[in-house]
Amino acid sequence: MTDKGFPAIDLPDEAATLDFGRRLAVLARPPLCIHLVGDLGAGKTTLSRGLLRGLGHEGSVKSPTYTLVEPYSIGSLQVFHFDLYRLADPGELAYIGIEDYFAASALILVEWPDRGGAQLPNPDLSCYLAVCDEGRRLRLEPGSDKGVALCRQFPREGFSAA
Ligand code: ADP
Ligand code: MG
Repeated sequence: MTDKGFPAIDLPDEAATLDFGRRLAVLARPPLCIHLVGDLGAGKTTLSRGLLRGLGHEGSVKSPTYTLVEPYSIGSLQVFHFDLYRLADPGELAYIGIEDYFAASALILVEWPDRGGAQLPNPDLSCYLAVCDEGRRLRLEPGSDKGVALCRQFPREGFSAA
């Protein structure tokens, strides 16, 4: 998809990752599912924090590594932030009622989506993050028509295409 007009984006410091999340918040309309892919320390939680702040969340944004999911209510908007790093078996997702989360008209963020296997519905958008020198590099990959539309709207000003 990157070759079809969604170039990678350089995020030189933490502030840039937060800013990207804020910009994504302006465009994100539920129901929407975003996967955040990348190694430990790649910036997945930081991007989620920027997004939640952009949506108006003023409290802290914890990494839901031990709880699997952290719910947020922001006005009438529901956000579910998953971190599946410690998921032992994708079958656990059925046990926590993953279908109910996806049935709600919510914004869903999933760190470590690979661990969810086939239990996870396809995302509208995947954000691939990787360490690059002192900063990070981000690649967007839409997974649905909604994701394509979102990527096309995404303002590139202020970002250097890598
Ligand atoms: P993950 O959730 O992918 O494990 P985090 O979001 O917790 O990663 O970020 C790990 C560290 O990387 C944090 O200290 C954060 O401040 C830092 N970080 C995030 N984005 C960037 C960036 N673009 N450049 C440099 N450091 C960053
Ligand atoms: Mg994290």
